[in-house]
Amino acid sequence: MKPCRLVLLGPPASGKGTQGRLMARRWQVPTVSVGETLRREIAAGSLAGQEAARFLDHGQLVPDKLAIATIDRWLELQPEKAFVADGFPRTLGQAEALETMLGRRKSPLTAALWLDLDEDRVAERISKRLTCADCGATFRLGSHVQGREEACPECGGTLTTRGDDGSGALAERMLAYRERTEPVAAFYDRRGLLRRIDAGGTPDEVFARIEAAVASSRPEPAEAAAGV
Ligand SMILES: [Zn+2]
Repeated sequence: MKPCRLVLLGPPASGKGTQGRLMARRWQVPTVSVGETLRREIAAGSLAGQEAARFLDHGQLVPDKLAIATIDRWLELQPEKAFVADGFPRTLGQAEALETMLGRRKSPLTAALWLDLDEDRVAERISKRLTCADCGATFRLGSHVQGREEACPECGGTLTTRGDDGSGALAERMLAYRERTEPVAAFYDRRGLLRRIDAGGTPDEVFARIEAAVASSRPEPAEAAAGV
């Protein structure tokens, strides 16, 4: 797999986390999320970490400026310039900033993958979703994990059902998701980077669709120049 720079978009339970892990493992490409990089900054006690903690402690999304700065610092440390971003960009402002950051590094985005799943299937999956209390990974009952009493396949931790997945909360989350994500998807569509992926089926089926979409996305500039 050539070095690729991908962003994953999609509603709750569309499998962004799972697909990010599969891509990381099979393509040897790092995943990045704002939450993960900020948790690292918080642990390191950086200024940005202290600022982020104020929002995260109150269960709020961090402001665009903070999310963008933490991703920018993370990119600075990536010699390969390859990544799969999960949950970033979340807003149009973040998408524009990411384009600027990648432009500055002459490493444009390969594709934006939209994991498409309708609301009924989102609700069904959420009712079967287990989250690891230790590492935060999510799993689907009957797919990754066969019983609620099983240990986390990633770290051996304890699996729990999430408390905030009631149907009222879900409707609200879906509305917020659509309001934020549709402008981001339209932004990538205008640039010819949006790839709509049917997120139904097993993780391996979805991964195969992702693989096909990425393979047909634009080549690295060096390869394009060489006519490969
Ligand atoms: Zn775990």
